Amino acid sequence: MSTTERLRADHVVVGGGSSGAVVAGRLAEAGRDVLLVEAGPDYGPLAGGWWPTELVDARMLATTHDWHYAAGRWTFERARVIGGCSAHNGAIAAVGHRRDYDAWGLDGWRGADVEPLYRTVLERMRVRAYEPHEAGPFHAACLEAAASAGWRIASDLCDLDANESFGLETVNVVGTTRWNTAFAYLDPVRAGGHLRVLDRTIVDRIEPRSTSTGMARVHGIRNGERVEIEADTLVLSAGVYGTPAILQRSGIGEPDRLAAAGVRATHELHGVGAGLHDHPMIHAGRRVSSTLQGWLDEAAATGFLPEEQTLGKACSSQATDGLYDLHVFPGCASNQTSLLHGRILVEVACVTPRSRGRLDIASPDPEAQPTIDHAYLSDPDGYDLTVLRDGLQLAEQLLEQPPLRAILGEPFDVFDTDEAIRANVAHYYHPVGTCRMGHDGDPLAVCDADGRLRGLEGIVVADVSILPTITRANTNLPAVMIGERIAATLLGA
Ligand SMILES: Cc1cc2nc3c(=O)[nH]c(=O)nc-3n(C[C@H](O)[C@H](O)[C@H](O)COP(=O)(O)OP(=O)(O)OC[C@H]3O[C@@H](n4cnc5c(N)ncnc54)[C@H](O)[C@@H]3O)c2cc1C
Repeated sequence: MSTTERLRADHVVVGGGSSGAVVAGRLAEAGRDVLLVEAGPDYGPLAGGWWPTELVDARMLATTHDWHYAAGRWTFERARVIGGCSAHNGAIAAVGHRRDYDAWGLDGWRGADVEPLYRTVLERMRVRAYEPHEAGPFHAACLEAAASAGWRIASDLCDLDANESFGLETVNVVGTTRWNTAFAYLDPVRAGGHLRVLDRTIVDRIEPRSTSTGMARVHGIRNGERVEIEADTLVLSAGVYGTPAILQRSGIGEPDRLAAAGVRATHELHGVGAGLHDHPMIHAGRRVSSTLQGWLDEAAATGFLPEEQTLGKACSSQATDGLYDLHVFPGCASNQTSLLHGRILVEVACVTPRSRGRLDIASPDPEAQPTIDHAYLSDPDGYDLTVLRDGLQLAEQLLEQPPLRAILGEPFDVFDTDEAIRANVAHYYHPVGTCRMGHDGDPLAVCDADGRLRGLEGIVVADVSILPTITRANTNLPAVMIGERIAATLLGA
């Protein structure tokens, strides 16, 4: 590396994903000077036509822009592109239950506080529910089967007060386009002169505000050259794996663990990387009958046929508070290249998991894989496992209803023992919690309730790493809401 490029901005946002694009967009909209630093490419405004098809087409998950995080038999998909995971995800829009937020006990995050933020988010992300006539043949049968199994059929799944029910999903899909946060929040301010985007730049480490200059500093690498950026305020939005890794490379974390990775501690903060959790998931499977295959081929040839369209919220035997702790959602291939072709899955996810894992960097190299240990189903009381076991029973009940039994074939992947569930547990793509918010007395709190890093001036975290406990919801809209909430704080609202 030969030269160092030097830049400065009032606000530097690291990571242009589901939360970071929102923070950057909102600050720029308010006339602030913003530099958004993103490791992946920025394809510019949607109208420019440079976006790769697979990132825009909402029918299937895109796999082309990934960080390739992995551990053992698991892969932990995370997008490396402007828009972050909102640019490659399932585009299912969910907000969880208001009691999720009340339970955090944090100022400005109670159900009543996030409700108006979500109203804005739903509008900006163009969220809508699928109409009954849009249901593909498999999902139409799932709705009938759910009704016949006794579920309440609902049209309000994306609602802070909705409980047990089954219905068509709400999505942030416009036409056939996955409406990511770059389209929703960056495109409107790209021409305004307040936002600069530095793409293909990986942030290596940061320095907190210096007492002499009053500025924080970001050290990055772009095309093999070093970049140094000075900032009044630094917002870390590099995601659940990226944000704690940047902090740890900067010497912020648990000293012994940093030393093991070859990094000298500069600020002791024990929660960095701790508290990692996701919704654990397992599935019941069936082969597709020739009748259903014919219907699917016909529907795919004539229209938009997403793999996921329906979802049930359900209570396991552990839901003693009467609130749903399970998502039950069928999936069915829309085209012949899908891995799901010829099969359907009914996924069940425990949306109130108690198991906690952690992330630690293994070296100071920003391109090196961190060590990710999700510790799925490790909670000592076996709560997560019990919820999944109950969920599988509900999935089987659904599959045995006449409208589905008539169009499905042989079972496969029968996980009928605890060992089988443990051996096959998957995740729902919703990791959170590695830099959690909390009160002063919480030894593992990394941030306060405004996302401010404990003990260091001028650094704010805004992404799903700050969630103390995961929502009973897919985490994209919560990430967008976090962006809105932290941007409002920075703007002094
Ligand atoms: C395959 C998949 C499907 C999903 N489906 C859904 C769904 O249907 N509905 C739903 O609600 N949720 C879904 N999710 C989850 C949801 O998309 C995420 O929870 C959410 O996007 C996380 O937002 P974030 O801002 O915290 O992080 P991200 O969106 O991951 O943003 C982090 C950004 O920071 C960048 N970055 C990281 N490290 C650095 C660095 N060192 N330097 C510079 N930049 C960096 C990344 O490239 C990325 O752009 C899915 C996730 C995946 C992976």
